[in-house]
Amino acid sequence: MKRAEMLARIAERTEPWDIVVIGGGAVGAGIAVDASARGLAVLLVEREDFGKGTSSRSTKLVHGGVRYLEQGNISLVMEALKERGLLLRNAPHIVHDLPFVVPNYSWWEAPFYGIGMKVYDLLAGKYNFGKSRVLSLTETLERLPTIQREGLRGGVLYHDGQFDDTRLLIHLLATAADHGAALVNYTEAVDFIRDDAGFVAGVILAEHETQTRYTVGAKVVVNATGIFTDETRRLAEPMAEKMVTPSQGIHLVLDRSFLKGDNAIMVPRTSDGRVLFAIPWHDRTLVGTTDTSIDAPSYEPLPLEEEIEFVLDTAREYLSRPPTRADVLSVYVGIRPLVSAPGGGEGKTSALSRGHTIHVDNSGLVTVVGGKWTTYRHMAEDCVDHAITLGALPEAACVTADLRIHGYHADASTLGALRVYGSDAEGIRAIANERAELAALLHPALPYIAAEIIWGVRHELSRTLDDALARRTRALLLNARASIAIAPHVAALMAAELGQDAEWIARQVSSFTALARQYILGPAPVRA
Ligand SMILES: Cc1cc2nc3c(=O)[nH]c(=O)nc-3n(C[C@H](O)[C@H](O)[C@H](O)COP(=O)(O)OP(=O)(O)OC[C@H]3O[C@@H](n4cnc5c(N)ncnc54)[C@H](O)[C@@H]3O)c2cc1C
Repeated sequence: MKRAEMLARIAERTEPWDIVVIGGGAVGAGIAVDASARGLAVLLVEREDFGKGTSSRSTKLVHGGVRYLEQGNISLVMEALKERGLLLRNAPHIVHDLPFVVPNYSWWEAPFYGIGMKVYDLLAGKYNFGKSRVLSLTETLERLPTIQREGLRGGVLYHDGQFDDTRLLIHLLATAADHGAALVNYTEAVDFIRDDAGFVAGVILAEHETQTRYTVGAKVVVNATGIFTDETRRLAEPMAEKMVTPSQGIHLVLDRSFLKGDNAIMVPRTSDGRVLFAIPWHDRTLVGTTDTSIDAPSYEPLPLEEEIEFVLDTAREYLSRPPTRADVLSVYVGIRPLVSAPGGGEGKTSALSRGHTIHVDNSGLVTVVGGKWTTYRHMAEDCVDHAITLGALPEAACVTADLRIHGYHADASTLGALRVYGSDAEGIRAIANERAELAALLHPALPYIAAEIIWGVRHELSRTLDDALARRTRALLLNARASIAIAPHVAALMAAELGQDAEWIARQVSSFTALARQYILGPAPVRA
């Protein structure tokens, strides 16, 4: 994917695109893959970087959602379990099976969760990842050597999927590009153009790097802007009613030693009735999340003190070595684009549906919102089916259930640290062979080599330090302090590729450092 080529295609196209997608998160990328694989002409625009919104900030689970089972939402669980199975089949380099243990401290938990997980297995049907079962105390301790032992009676084992969210996102975009889609970041939809009847017939784009404006025609425009859905709809219809309720969730990243072994912990009912996960991810321990209703969406929301305390307190109940604030390597925060309850009633955001909605405004703008990362493919299929009817586009069946995602590799475990790149690992190795410096680790506390940064710039539209360290690699999430330490070196590597000067490097380092400091947890505020 080359930015200059993408922009040239936008400038040169005289015919309308079949579909213009606004928003480069999981949902927008999924639509670009689906539509381009059906042979449609697709343009996707993202005003920040791909995944800068919610899609880089998930719990990294490809899951049916055990919690929704408890809520009795069987069809949502079945949909997600099927999608989980399809993703493992189509992107085995990024998605893998992860065993989870529900630790049991009361007599009733083993039969209760044991039966619940059997239902979960049953609903997965032919897409099941592995059988759940009740574990003895000894088996539980073997799987979770660092679990709190006092009062532990045993556990329940079940299986779900795990992934690297932005790696999947970038590979979805690359899949769409492989099928002819044009995709560009740092390009904002700022207004719509209309036909004689007043229907949306295209988009006015503001490209932020060169401050260029483009007017592009479209047979269908899809709004896939997640937490910014209502803002985008109001560009077309200023009086559009609110569709999205934003809800914030935080994750704390700890050293791997807090959760030894290859199993995750699932706490089905925390002190305040929520679900909490502690999962191994990229050789760290990820703990989260929360579900806090907030007023307005933003790109870099801050964790609330009560959220930090809740996650740490709950982790301390279950881990034999209690984590403190000083142990937190990084804290990241995301906002869920939940579909508002009909009538907009108040209530707990955790009770709002995780299903998706497709809405066509009077202007003809198609909005798709809600769902979750796991169900992006199904959302995209549903959306493109609607778009074909609405835009009178050529009929073509959806092919993504069987479509291999870019980088597909049947046995990526042979690729070592470059596993998540799948077949692209070869290209990164070739860059590493250019100079010894490019094969060197960027920092002893991070698993990344310089060649990955260069690869991101050359092939994955990585434009800023934030892109390179938060979403092409996950350095910022794995260790915020180490990511600040490597910022000058990484900026210099990028500048050489992008033809940028010392002033650009200084600006990038300064803005990234300010951002990364927000991912570092300071001491608890002193209460008056
Ligand atoms: C804390 C948390 C944990 C989660 N964990 C999981 C999990 O483990 N598994 C799971 O399946 N799901 C999970 N989810 C849900 C999942 O992450 C989201 O459902 C999904 O990422 C939403 O994707 P999206 O494309 O709708 O939104 P986004 O990723 O936010 O994408 C929308 C994009 O639109 C862009 N945009 C906005 N306005 C414009 C404009 N005018 N022009 C151009 N671009 C624009 C934004 O910059 C943004 O990048 C989690 C969510 C949260 C918050």
